[in-house]
Amino acid sequence: MPAVPLAMTHRIETLAAHAGCGDRVSGQPIAPPLSLSTSFVLGEPGKHGAYAYSRLGNPSRDGLEATLASLEGGESAAAFASGCAAMHAVLELLAPGDHLVACADVYGGTYRLVERFLKPRGVEATWVDMGESHDVDQAMRQTTKMVWIETPTNPLLRVFDIRTLADIAHAHRAICVVDGTFTTPVLQRPLALGADLVVHSMSKYLNGHSDVVGGVVVSASEELAEHVRFIQRAGGAVLSPFDAYLVARGLKTLPLRMARHCDNACALADWLVDQRRVGTVHYPGLPDHADHALASRQMEGFGGMVSFEVEGGLDAARALLTGLQLFSFAESLGGIESLIGHPATMSHASVPASDRQARGIGDGLIRVSVGLEHIEDLVADLSRALEAV
Ligand code: PLP
Repeated sequence: MPAVPLAMTHRIETLAAHAGCGDRVSGQPIAPPLSLSTSFVLGEPGKHGAYAYSRLGNPSRDGLEATLASLEGGESAAAFASGCAAMHAVLELLAPGDHLVACADVYGGTYRLVERFLKPRGVEATWVDMGESHDVDQAMRQTTKMVWIETPTNPLLRVFDIRTLADIAHAHRAICVVDGTFTTPVLQRPLALGADLVVHSMSKYLNGHSDVVGGVVVSASEELAEHVRFIQRAGGAVLSPFDAYLVARGLKTLPLRMARHCDNACALADWLVDQRRVGTVHYPGLPDHADHALASRQMEGFGGMVSFEVEGGLDAARALLTGLQLFSFAESLGGIESLIGHPATMSHASVPASDRQARGIGDGLIRVSVGLEHIEDLVADLSRALEAV
């Protein structure tokens, strides 16, 4: 029997569970093998088979890329050594004189790449609050070649309208790129909404076990895919075969994990709203969140990230962060275990304090990556720590 023919009509749970399974013939392994070899035997000079050298192509990386392309509904995917390397490859599509319109509320590493890498090389960029599509339209120029969206944003969890923003980009002959790290294809499929490229840090939910740093770019068209693949192979920041193997394994449980992340985050956000020392709770699943209606339309679940203000500023934040037992005070997100962070001194430490305050990132803001633990254990831990604040 051949491998189960995976089609776009299969649901994402089925695509994830069967990804990488070989043909169903006697003796064929069920789990995809790990291919560590650097080099592959060539046929004859000038003619070789599918593989020659692992930077150019590797069976473990190829298998993962095929799975990611199918989960996103894309033409092709390219896996990189980190999320930043994946973003860097996409930004390399811009040439001196080109203009980028990017979402003001982006991951700090994206901001750094644009400000410290692109701009000194002659690419211009405008940061825009993408909550108002009119402002995005206004920011477009003749030279604008790319619109960069991150939704939901980090750490305030604003949600932006991908379809509207992609239409604006296309009306100006620009491409639309979405950083989908917070959602994964389980909760949001940007290519189906008109985006041209999706980038992910695979270090987060896609791998999900806090033991791989990786990234991926999924392209809607073969033309874009070819450019990205060239940058991947020539630039050389490829994902290692072992990391590809681990991410491919993690992906098999992605739909299941995302469902639990969403359930736990929803329950935690609901509980936080009623706590005495807690101010605003930022979670798109809350009915009074500014983008709740859009999130309900655009996403298949509200995600596993929750931010909230603890009253009492930096001292209160410190007391809370050091009083927890289950939540680890650590960088990153999207793993099976709950992590907690303090944007003002971590992800947004390099943003001047006044700018941070203006963006709503105060000293009392706490960001939680809600893991897969039992929700009552998580609530009990936070409740104990909040009592001590
Ligand atoms: N995009 C987002 C939204 C992120 O949160 C991160 C990292 O935190 C990245 C990209 C970069 O990924 P990596 O750390 O794998 O380079």
